[in-house]
Amino acid sequence: MNDIFDLKGKTAIITGASSGLGRHFAKTLSAAGANVVICARRIQNLEELKKEIDGEVLVLPLDVTSEESVLDFYSEVKKTVGSADILINNAGTSDPKRFKDLDEQSWNYVLETNLNGAYRVAKNFTDSLIEDKKPGSIINIASILGLRVGLNLASYATAKAGLVQLTKSMALELARSNIRVNAIAPGYILTEINDDFFATEEGQSYIKNIPMKRLGLESDLDGVLLLLSSDASAFMTGSIIPVDGGHLINPL
Ligand code: NAD
Repeated sequence: MNDIFDLKGKTAIITGASSGLGRHFAKTLSAAGANVVICARRIQNLEELKKEIDGEVLVLPLDVTSEESVLDFYSEVKKTVGSADILINNAGTSDPKRFKDLDEQSWNYVLETNLNGAYRVAKNFTDSLIEDKKPGSIINIASILGLRVGLNLASYATAKAGLVQLTKSMALELARSNIRVNAIAPGYILTEINDDFFATEEGQSYIKNIPMKRLGLESDLDGVLLLLSSDASAFMTGSIIPVDGGHLINPL
C-alpha cells in the first residue's frame, strides 16, 4: 500500500527551499524517492541543504519576482533534467502592517512574490509539460489566510486568496492536459523564523485559538505533501487542503 506514495523516478522542483517549509519539503520528497531541484535566492543555504540530502539534488538560483530569473531557471532545468514532474510552489513572504500603514511598496512586494511569482513559476512549468505532452502535479503553498482573514495581513491574505483561486482556475483548464493543481493551506507551523515570536505572550495567545491547542510541526505537512505529489491523489485536482489543527473551524 505504501507504494502509492512512491516518487522514485520523479523530479520535483521546490521553490523557496533555502529555509523553513521549503527546506523540509525538499527533504521529505527526496526521502520518498524523488530527485529534487532546490531553488531560491540564497544559494549558500541551498548548498548546505544539498549536503543533508542523500538522493539526487540540483541547486539553482531563482528569484520568483523576476521574469528573467524564472526563464533562466527553466532553461537550466530543461537542459539538465528535462521537464520536471512535480512543482512545489512554496516561495513566499509577508510584511505585516496595519491597513492604515500600508504603502504601495509593501503591498506590491507581497503580491509580487506570493501571487505573481507563484503564477510565473507555475505558468512556465505547465508550458514545458504541455510542450512535452507530460502529466504533472502542482502544489501551491497557500495559507489559512487565503480562506479567512487576520489582523495586519491584508496584503498576505489577499495574495494567498488569489493563489487559492489561481489553483482552482488552473486545475479546471489543465485537467485535460493531465496536469493536476492543488493547494495546501497550512495553519501556523513552527519554523526557525517564527519560533521566537510564538514563544512570546502574544504568540502564545495565537495558539489558544487553535482547537488542537498547538502549533503545527513541519512534519505535520508530510502526509498531504506526499499525497498530492504522488499517484495516490490521481483523481484529485482543484483541492485546497487545510492542515491547521482545526484553526479554520474555530467558533465564530
Ligand atoms: P520562510 O521565510 O522560511 O520561507 C520562504 C522561502 O521563500 C525562503 O526560502 C525565501 O528565501 C523564499 N523566497 C522569498 N522570496 C523569494 C523570491 N523572490 N524568490 C525566490 N524565493 C523567495 O517561511 P516559511 O514559513 O517556510 O514559508 C514557506 C511558505 O509557506 C510561504 O509561501 C508561506 O506563505 C507559507 N506558509 C507558511 C506558514 C507557517 O506558519 N510557517 C503558514 C502558512 C503558509
